[in-house]
Amino acid sequence: MNYYNIKDKEEIVDFKTATIKGQGKEKGLFYPESIPQFGKDFIENLSEFSNEEIAYLCMKDFVGDEIPSDILKEIVFETINFDIPLKKINDNIYSLELFHGPTLAFKDVGARFMSRCLSYFLKNENKKVTVLVATSGDTGGAVANGFYKTENINVVILYPKNRVSKVQEKQLTALGENISALEVNGSFDDCQQLVKQAFLDEKINSELFLTSANSINVARWLPQQIYYLLALKQWQKLENKKPIICVPSGNFGNICAGILAYFRGLPAEHFIAACNENDVIPNYLQTGKLEPQKTIATLSNAMDVGNPSNFVRILELFGHQFEELKNKISAYSINNEKTLQTIKEVYENYDYLLEPHGAVACSALNQYLKENPNRKGLILETAHPIKFPDAVEKAINIKNKLPESLSELMKKEKKSIEIRPDFEELKRFLLNKN
Ligand SMILES: *Cc1c(COP(=O)(O)O)cnc(C)c1O
Repeated sequence: MNYYNIKDKEEIVDFKTATIKGQGKEKGLFYPESIPQFGKDFIENLSEFSNEEIAYLCMKDFVGDEIPSDILKEIVFETINFDIPLKKINDNIYSLELFHGPTLAFKDVGARFMSRCLSYFLKNENKKVTVLVATSGDTGGAVANGFYKTENINVVILYPKNRVSKVQEKQLTALGENISALEVNGSFDDCQQLVKQAFLDEKINSELFLTSANSINVARWLPQQIYYLLALKQWQKLENKKPIICVPSGNFGNICAGILAYFRGLPAEHFIAACNENDVIPNYLQTGKLEPQKTIATLSNAMDVGNPSNFVRILELFGHQFEELKNKISAYSINNEKTLQTIKEVYENYDYLLEPHGAVACSALNQYLKENPNRKGLILETAHPIKFPDAVEKAINIKNKLPESLSELMKKEKKSIEIRPDFEELKRFLLNKN
């Protein structure tokens, strides 16, 4: 499969190049040249396929012969080797739990797939790559874990001191080996700024091969389609009508993967982008104007994005036809108060514990179902409630117990290097490391 740069359609690369480079000229996103269709037999009888078969069949066309099929099978099997159950919340709403992976966040799937593909491509080239990422919390842990002990890859993660939760910090700092954590005395924006500067620095780029692991990388974006197939596999056994699919959205990578799966033939009645107070896309759907904003800090902090970078891929899928897009996607903006209220109501009425991102989704889906009765839907629950203990406690006043895997992690030592939000400090670190 080839991919073109959305900003410059003359720039065409294969899957390998797209994975290694991350993005094209002028920071353009890569996009598949064609949309491979799911077979009718496959999509109507998902329950006859194992999760591993579904994942492999979902991904193979996007990789083509660039990774031999036995190796690609191994990669996808490792990518999804945990439960992804669809649980009933009430008569009309189900929750697809994407948080049973190693760092209890849905980003595990993309990070694991990307790290393994990258490692395969680098093996024969005798090349070493440095993955540089800034994180506000969740991405860093999934990337650290996904790339841990991967040959030929060093990972450097920048995170804002005192602004990530205790669990998140341990996930970044306790692994060691090829993972370095830089604790930046500043904000998430400072971290992102430093990373951006590093990608532009000539000396760093002449000595290191830098790449990013954020959701614009096709190898992180595309495997997210698998969630939607696994949701449908379970849905088909429970319900007759097509589902409304509601996705808590920040950078819009996840929902975009779902919509891609829909264009390939996945049955879905409608998509809902559930946003917090960062409401660029809800505004866009009302006005037709796409206006990036400054980010607002909210309880669902992994969705605090003021300029969702994957949205251009959604526009591309709809051929930039605004009306068609509006018929298939709705978007809601849910504030903190409503988020907490939803956690409380769902816990008290249905004995189901949401965390803030899932609560934003549940609230948005509720609103849609009120406006469009006689339908049923599912939300994607993207993180484990334990990762957001403060918000959960604020909503329902109970302390949540740490799962076993995390209590082990919490005993490990934190290893990080503190730096000021000063590019020269980052540069020195990167150059000395090599
Ligand atoms: C990253 C993240 C999201 C948002 O996903 P996008 O693909 O950026 O829209 C939602 N929930 C959680 C917990 C996340 O970590």
